[in-house]
Order: sequence, then structure tokens, then C-alpha cells
Amino acid sequence: MADETPLMQQYQRIKAEHQGEILLFRMGDFYEMFSEDAKLGSKILGLTLTSRNNGAAGRVPLAGVPVKAVEGYIARLVAAGCKVAICEQMEDPKKAKIIVKRQVTEVLTPGTVMTENLLEATSNSFLACAQRAGERAALAWLDLTTGEFFLASLPLARLGDELRRIGPREILLEGVNGLPEGPRGAQANVPLLEAACEKPGGLGCPCTWLEDWRFDRATCVEGLKKHFGVATFNGFGIEDDDPALVSAGVLLDYAGRMQPAALAHIVRLQPYFPGDYMVLDRASVANLELVSNFSGGRGGTLLETLDRTLTAMGARTLRRWVLEPLQDFPQIEKRLDRVAAFHSDSALRRGVRDLLAEVADIERLVGRISSQRAGPRELASLAASLGRIPELKAGLADSGNPALAGLGESLREYPQLVAEIGRALSDDLPALLADGNVIRAGYNAGLDELRSFQTEGKDWLVRLEADQRARSGIGNLKVKYNRVFGYFIEVTRSNLHLVPADYIRKQTISGGERFITPELKEYENKVLGAEEKIAALEYDLFCALREHAATFSAELQETAAALACLDVAAALAEVAADLGYVRPSMVEGDRIFIREGRHPVVERMVQGHKFVPNDIELDNRENQIIVLTGPNMAGKSTLLRQVGLIVLLAHVGSFVPAAEAAVCRVDRIFTRVGASDNLARGQSTFMVEMNETANILNNASPASLILLDEIGRGTSTFDGLSIAWSVTEYLHEQPSRAAKTIFATHYHELTELESLLPRVKNFNVMVKDYGERVIFLHKIQRGGSDRSYGIQVARLAGIPQTVLERAREVLANLEGGEFSAGHVPRLASGSHAPRAQRRDLDQLSLFAAAPGPPNPAVERLKDLDPDSLTPIEALKILYELKKDVDK
Ligand code: ADP
Ligand code: MG
Repeated sequence: MADETPLMQQYQRIKAEHQGEILLFRMGDFYEMFSEDAKLGSKILGLTLTSRNNGAAGRVPLAGVPVKAVEGYIARLVAAGCKVAICEQMEDPKKAKIIVKRQVTEVLTPGTVMTENLLEATSNSFLACAQRAGERAALAWLDLTTGEFFLASLPLARLGDELRRIGPREILLEGVNGLPEGPRGAQANVPLLEAACEKPGGLGCPCTWLEDWRFDRATCVEGLKKHFGVATFNGFGIEDDDPALVSAGVLLDYAGRMQPAALAHIVRLQPYFPGDYMVLDRASVANLELVSNFSGGRGGTLLETLDRTLTAMGARTLRRWVLEPLQDFPQIEKRLDRVAAFHSDSALRRGVRDLLAEVADIERLVGRISSQRAGPRELASLAASLGRIPELKAGLADSGNPALAGLGESLREYPQLVAEIGRALSDDLPALLADGNVIRAGYNAGLDELRSFQTEGKDWLVRLEADQRARSGIGNLKVKYNRVFGYFIEVTRSNLHLVPADYIRKQTISGGERFITPELKEYENKVLGAEEKIAALEYDLFCALREHAATFSAELQETAAALACLDVAAALAEVAADLGYVRPSMVEGDRIFIREGRHPVVERMVQGHKFVPNDIELDNRENQIIVLTGPNMAGKSTLLRQVGLIVLLAHVGSFVPAAEAAVCRVDRIFTRVGASDNLARGQSTFMVEMNETANILNNASPASLILLDEIGRGTSTFDGLSIAWSVTEYLHEQPSRAAKTIFATHYHELTELESLLPRVKNFNVMVKDYGERVIFLHKIQRGGSDRSYGIQVARLAGIPQTVLERAREVLANLEGGEFSAGHVPRLASGSHAPRAQRRDLDQLSLFAAAPGPPNPAVERLKDLDPDSLTPIEALKILYELKKDVDK
């Protein structure tokens, strides 16, 4: 180390505290990376790797990026999963004695970036921390850009679903030295991770492993108390012994270390109670395509249809609401009342939306202002946005609608702050504070004086030039300026003999000479001094103004939240008016009734023909389970999802695409979409399908809604059919699991369940059958469909005629007698039959008997009645069977 140059020694000192991060080391107009950072960084960014002299220690690898373009490079590093430490020069290099003082000012990690071009305006950027507290998970999540900070304690098994819903950009877990190790790290985190991601790393966001001592309860709680200036968390509605406070403390500490200047606007910690919201497991969020489609995009999602918000705050809020449908009717009704108010008064809606269109992202502006990042234009845009509030309030109050009056009252006005910013900032603002001309004339007397000196100075120069020309008789004498000599007088060669004696020669140039005079130098000192002073004063005045604005952070956040609610309510009303939605009635009891319901997304996609609406009635008494049959492409999956989406929308507090809807409280929506309907997942489909089905059977309640789309499809026909059959029986017969269920299936055999189980009702999607051809009517009717029309659909899809003919023969044989005694499908006969008969046309069945003599173990099992056995007896028999088999 002693061999290294002083600069590299400084670098090494700083780097030692930023292991595991890429250190961007400011050197003049560049940020440099050294050694390993340079190698990794140059690879990710595609830069040329060079090297730099390091005294007796040889040369070190080096790669640099220009300061002007650094944001783009940082974005790429962070997107590649790197953490990036920014080390700035803390003093003017001209004034530094040996080496410039340097310091890391921020570390950008995926969950702590605040740089605008790294953020998505319409979704939150959460950093989360989870740890295990017995069989529960203690979770906290924080959006540094908006200051939103939540905590929750939930059953370990629900952690994965909640994390999926929150969608953090980065998650903090306990480990050792940045690795998932250590006594508590490994034990605590493996189940945590499994819960979170099905498989480790499957969550889709980077994990940061923190040292276990950072999870010390006392330290965490102290840190939080100090930050919020409270002695107890009861004021936030949080118990002081809440295990999630540890996660919150870890988050705050981490955020503070990464972004030291960015904590001021975190003024509240909000408890999140999972029971307040409908449970949406990850399968439902994915299958209903709520906020992202199967390829991860936004197209064709419910959110895309709904999002008519005009502010980024509104867009983020709507996204959260869609993922967090409420359980509490009064709260739902409050939201519905607001939507209704805007729905019925289109003039008011238009007026309010025109104003909202001029409102900026106040939430994130507050974050940027209080972390001293906001530039002049951002402060002005805060003032302009706040300036819309009086009109908004007036509009809401004038509406005379009590639902909107309350919302209007929660919007605050900030007349002084708006006036102050208006007085201080000039009309034509530069993007950067350093560009100057930020502060308006008349705001500060000292600044005005310096500026007038500057303008007068310009006049003075013009006068000086004229005076000197007159005095010397040199007509083309010029007063000029450059950075090396400052101000000077230039005289061309032909006039040099006229130069007065008091001119001091400074430089000879090709066409003449340059001179200075004492008078000119005195002027120069004043002018140049003034420029620097003006810049410094503008900077100070702007910072003071920004700090003043930052003192309003807490109120501004509340105002922003109220504006977001207003925006969402008006947006939902706009959707309702535009697309013909109605207000759902939320009803106590167990009934869901939808008249002429439509699928909100598919109805906008079907081109050429109109979407066919359908009625649905579900309850826990007569219409608990709907078995919905119909050929492929008839519209079963669409109907299933449409019921789920309408029920969800009602709980979000939105109008719904139907002519009429009465919706009871639903605690949970389960969806299970058959393997072949969900190709994008590409996993071992049958296993996934059975996992998800098991989850439903173990967690459903009578208040749940279950949407089963073609379960059992991932295996052979008979297995699939029998599984589907027994699942239906179970949901019907187990009182604690008797959820309202729609079961779409192309196994028309399932329709026989209606005659056996009183609460099962058959419906089918109608098709018009013209012999060879079918037309899908997309309308459901009572009763089961008796045919599957698969061959007609195949024809529509362009399957060659000979294949279709053969298929029809095979079908006739199957329907005739299905299988021969030797378990050979009787498919073989017919003119199109291949010569060699295949024995394994059907997939091997789980329950099929193997050919050959009967197996004694199987025979014994057949005779057993498990219900009449004690556990000991059962175990004994198991041992005996094992012995028999081992013989
Ligand atoms: P299934 O699940 O029965 O195979 P889908 O629900 O996937 O059928 O629907 C197939 C297609 O039929 C959809 O993509 C849509 O274009 C159209 N469709 C479905 N339901 C309707 C409807 N009610 N009105 C109009 N078109 C519909
Ligand atoms: Mg389908």
C-alpha cells in the first residue's frame, strides 16, 4: 500500500468500506473505476479497459465514464444487478492542497435508486426486508422515492403471495458477510426464501444478505424511535413488540447507509393487516392478468383497461388497489360513492380531470426536495401543481356531493409556499441550478445589486472601448475577453504605433498585440468576482427555498395521497362511463349474482363481432358449484375469469362490466388454469397443477371463490377425469371448504355430478351445430353439453380432411365401447387404421391394473377399509405389506 500513489491510497481507503459495490471515483470530468471494478464494469458497459500508473505498485486496470453521461451508465450497472457507490470530490480541485477530498455520497442499489430515469413512474419502487419470527414472517417495505413505509406480520405460508403483490426491487435477508450463511441466516432464510419464491431466487428480485447483528431488535427499535422522534409506535397503530419492527429498523438503517440524504421525508410507518384485504395468491394474480400479462407486459391486463389516471401518484395507487381488494364494506362503499359521484356528473369529472392533468408527481417531488436533489424546474412544478388545489377544492365543494366533500377537505392549500416559490424563481428556468438565472429579480436585494453591477459593467466596457478609440485614434481597437488573460485590449499591427504609453503589453498574436491597463484589470476583478458571487448567492437562495419546501414534507405527502385517491376515483368513473360499467351492490350473505356480465379486457379485444354478455348466479345453498362444459373456443375460460374480475373489481371499489351485479364478501379468489391453457409457464405442468389444486383444497373457505379451468388436463383422460370428479365432490361435501366454484371442463362426463350432488348446477356454452361446422354463440345455458365438438374445432383450425375423417372413425369406436377386454383401445378398426396396432395409444393410467396375475398386495389393499383402522393397525399392515413385497 505504501508503494501506491497517494491518489490510489485514498481510493483503497474508500474502497475498503465499499466491498461488493462498484465504486465510481470522481476525477474531474470522469468517474473512474479501478482494479476488479474496472474489469467488471468495462465488461458490463462495453468500455475499453486501460490502466493507470500506480507508483512502485505498478499499474492498475482502469475504466472511466464521463460525468455528463453517468446516469445512463449507472442505470445499466444497476439493471445488471450491481450496487454502485458514487464517490464525489468534496472540494474545488483548484483549492485542494495535495489530493482532493473525496467521499461516497450515495450507493445505488436496485431498491434504493432515486435517479429519475431508473424509476417507473406508474409503479412503486419498494425495498423489502423479511425475517422469520417462529411460524410467522415479519415483513417491512419502503419506497424511498415516495416515503411510503409499511410493515406486516403474517403466516410464513403467505409471505410468498404478499411479496409477489408488493413486487420489491430488492429484498434484505439475514446472512453473514453478504452471503446466505450463518447460524440464523441459513436456518431462518431457507424456509423464508422457499416460502417467498417456490425456489430460491425465484422471486425475481435481487437479495441482499446483511450481517446478523444488524437484525438486533433493540438497535432496530431504537433507530426507528430516533428517526420518527417517538417513544412508542402506538401512534402509528403498531404494537411496540411487533416483530416486524426489526425488519423496519433494518430497512431504515440500510436505506440510510445507501442514501444518507434521503430519509427526511419518511415520516410515517403504516401497519398493513393482511386480513383487511382479499387474499390473492400468485396463481390468481398471474392467471387473472391483473397487472401484467403472461409475458410480463402490461398489454391485455385489467390494469391497462382501468388505468385512466392522469397523475403518476394516481397510477401507483390504482395499481395497489387492484392488488389489494378490500374486505370492509363501509370502505368499499366509500370508494364506490366517490366513483358514483364522478360518474353521474360528467361536467365535474371533466373539470377535475383537466386540473389533475396539470398536477405533477408530488409524492416523488417531495422525496427529491427533501433529499436535496430537486432542481429549479422541479420546485417550480411543485408550486404549479399545488396552485391547482384551490380550484380542485372549489370544484369538489361546489358539487354538493358529500362523498366528494370529504375528499376535498383532505386536500390542503399551501398559499404561502406557492407564493414564495413564485416570488423566488424566475419564469424561464434552466434545467440545472448551476446554469444560473434561477432567482427572479426583486427577490433578494444583494443579488439585484450584484447583477446590476454586471449589466452596468457591460455598458462600462462599451464606453471604455469608445473612449479608448477616441483617445488613441485607433478606429478598430477592441476590448475582448478570454479565459487565460481575462479582459484585454487588442490592436492590429498597422495601428501599433498609435498605442498610448500606459498600455501594458501582454501578448503578441499574428495580426497584432494585446494589452491591458490597470483600469481594465480593476474592472475585471469586480466583474469576475460578481459572477462568482452571483452564482454562490443564487445557489444559497435556492437551497434555502428548497429546505423551506422540505419542511412541508409530511403535509405534502398527505395531500399527494388525497390527490391520488381523487385521481383514481375520477379515472374509474371515466372508465365506467366510457365502457358502460355499473355500480355493484355489495350484499351481506353468500350470493353473487351478475346479470349480463362481460370480461373487461376481452370485450375490448374481440373485433368484428360484439362480446356476448352472460348471467351468473352463485351461492352456498343451491348454486355452489357450476360445472361449465362446452367445446374448446366456446368461451369457458373467458367466462370464468370474467366472474373473478367482476368480483375483484367490486371489492376494489370500482364499477363493473355488467348490467347489474350483487356481490357478497369474498375472502379469497383461487384460480387454477389447466396446463395447456397456460403454456407460458413451461413447467412440469401436471405437478404445478396438482400443487395449485392442493393449495385450493387446503385453504378455501365457504366465503372463497374458486375458478377451476380444466383441471386434470395435464394427465391422461381417465386420471384427469377422476381427479376432477373427486375434487368437485370434496368441495361439495366438506363444509369448511364449500366455496363457490365454477369448474370449466371439456370432460362432459362431469355433468353427471349434477344428479348426484344437490348444489352442483350444469351449464354449457352454446354452439350452433351445422353438422360439419360449428358456430360459437358464447352464450351459456342450463344443462350440460353432451358432445365436445373437438373435431369440428380441429376443422376450423385447418387440420387436413383425411385426419379429420380418421378422427371421426376413432371417435365412433370410442363411443361404441371404448376398450377391449385386454385394455387395447378399440380404435384399430376402420379403413384408415394403420397396419401395426399400437397398444399404448392411451397414456399409462395411474389406476390402471397391470396385465398378468393379480398382485396379492393390491388384492389385500382392495379389502381394506381405511376408515375403520386405527393408526397402529394401519402401520402394522404397512409393515406386513412391505415384508410381502420384499420377499
Ligand atoms: P374456451 O376456454 O372455452 O376454450 P375461451 O374462453 O378461451 O374459450 O374463448 C375463446 C375466444 O372466444 C376468446 O379469445 C374470445 O375471442 C372469444 N370469446 C369468448 N367469450 C366470448 C363472449 N362472451 N363474446 C364474444 N367472444 C367471446
Ligand atoms: Mg379455456
